[in-house]
Amino acid sequence: MKLLEGKTAIITGASRGIGRGIAEVFAKNGCNVAFTYLSSVEKGEALAKELEAYGVKAKGYRSDASDYAAAEQLIADVVKDFGTIDAVINNAGITKDNLLMRMSEADWDAVMNINLKSIFNITKAVQRTMLKQRFGSIVNMSSVVGIKGNAGQSNYAASKAGVIGFSKSIALELGSRNIRCNVIAPGFIETEMTAALPEETVQGWREAIPLKRGGTTEDVANLALFLASDLSSYISGQVINVDGAMLT
Ligand code: NAP
Repeated sequence: MKLLEGKTAIITGASRGIGRGIAEVFAKNGCNVAFTYLSSVEKGEALAKELEAYGVKAKGYRSDASDYAAAEQLIADVVKDFGTIDAVINNAGITKDNLLMRMSEADWDAVMNINLKSIFNITKAVQRTMLKQRFGSIVNMSSVVGIKGNAGQSNYAASKAGVIGFSKSIALELGSRNIRCNVIAPGFIETEMTAALPEETVQGWREAIPLKRGGTTEDVANLALFLASDLSSYISGQVINVDGAMLT
């Protein structure tokens, strides 16, 4: 059964990593996929072709999620190209880790703007479409770090905790219009980025996780699939960890 047959989703930051994994799982499940990227232009263009091979409509947009006006333009373009937006996956995110003592104002602002303001930008821009159709699922990407905190990541943790507060508020605000909003909090997910780290470091992290492995992008994508689909039609305002019981 294809869980998203005939639906349209927009996924931010899908040129790499988790966003890319979500785009693939959605396309396999019959979803038309609009997605964004910023610097990885070639990867973004290649992804559209790869997704189309699943028989769905797919289009990439180069758009900075932290830019308010760009987000408005993006949503207008996607509605024009696809006709509707049933689900939004706000996935784009960055880290600029440092101890507070060494953290610059620029690093604080960049992380807040790309991880948190982006979610305000896109959700605000898409709400008119969802209100009109009285249907929508918004899925925002947080992190276990947004729940627990992490030394050296105060900017990232603050942005990801902000995502949770924003999402619960939106679930309350838009629930009466049948618009749901949920949060995914991934733990340690193995991507190209973590593949560049020393093997002993990564192995140490895996051993500290009760399920004894890092997560895959597909592990996260499968939860996004459930939350975007009608299987989760009575689930809203929730934060669900995909962390192998790391925070338990
Ligand atoms: P990643 O591999 O670094 O990919 C990040 C994606 O976001 C890329 O496609 C990138 O596009 C895009 N992006 C960055 N800045 C952008 C902007 N201003 N506008 C639009 N797109 C932008 O990261 P990831 O590991 O897949 O992480 C995805 C999300 O999951 C993030 O929100 C992250 O905080 C969260 N997360 C990840 C983990 C983990 O272990 N990996 C754990 C917890 C939470 P370009 O390459 O084109 O710039």
